[in-house]
Amino acid sequence: MLRASRHGPLTRIELLPTLLGRPVFSVSAYLLGDTLIDSGCQKTAAELAAWCDGRGIARIVHTHHHEDHAGGDRLLVTRFGLEVSAPPLTAAILEDFYRLPIYRRVVWGQPGNVRARAMAGAVEIDGRRFDVISTPGHAADHVCLYDPGSGWVFTGDLFISPEVLYLRRVEDARKHLDSLRRILELQPRVLICSHAGVIQDASAALSRRIAHWESVAERAKLLRARGRSLGSLTRELLGREGWMTWISLGEFSKRNLVRSLLRGRPDDPCATVVGGRDDAFV
Ligand SMILES: [Zn+2]
Repeated sequence: MLRASRHGPLTRIELLPTLLGRPVFSVSAYLLGDTLIDSGCQKTAAELAAWCDGRGIARIVHTHHHEDHAGGDRLLVTRFGLEVSAPPLTAAILEDFYRLPIYRRVVWGQPGNVRARAMAGAVEIDGRRFDVISTPGHAADHVCLYDPGSGWVFTGDLFISPEVLYLRRVEDARKHLDSLRRILELQPRVLICSHAGVIQDASAALSRRIAHWESVAERAKLLRARGRSLGSLTRELLGREGWMTWISLGEFSKRNLVRSLLRGRPDDPCATVVGGRDDAFV
């Protein structure tokens, strides 16, 4: 399923893969000038390609490599000869995409390999100069694209929603919080998110997003200091796990979020609260 909506010069292309006939996990690509920002997943690639036909699109620019952001590339490159630009780490993955775990292949589909041009510093889109800002945490290769002139920022999966409850096991919630704070410091005006859409008050949204995880981290530390287990305190703070936790065999869970928020960096004084006890969490 595909839904397109205009926001001034920007078009949001909302893509909804289906599972057992029902739409799941909406993700958005964007069109600005002749450039697509991300390309959705492999399962929605044919719909996106049909929509792109005749629109004079020349290239795809990526925020990160995940399969719900780069899965449309192969078909678009094959059909229209689009150029792909991506952060260097992303470009390396796109050229030889790793085999996804089965639940990710079932929901989003396996991306095909594409040649990508490595971009760094800044990228020009529709006459605007976007700074390419490294924002790791959700993924090591994740970047935001920020135009200081208009205050627009494409945030990929940095924001997602005001209250994110689930994390993949490999994600780093503390790095993610640092990245959120770094983008907030820029005082962007409009936040363009791959899941939440176009948000006009970017700073308020980012502040709320940061405050939610900081609050979860603080309460988790208090409960942990009282000797509560990770499972027990996660249930108290965030409720029971959802169906994605079970079909992903725990790769995608609330427990992962709390564990990652509690696990401090060695130079982080907060880490001493759980220092030496991390093993008990695994
Ligand atoms: Zn992602």
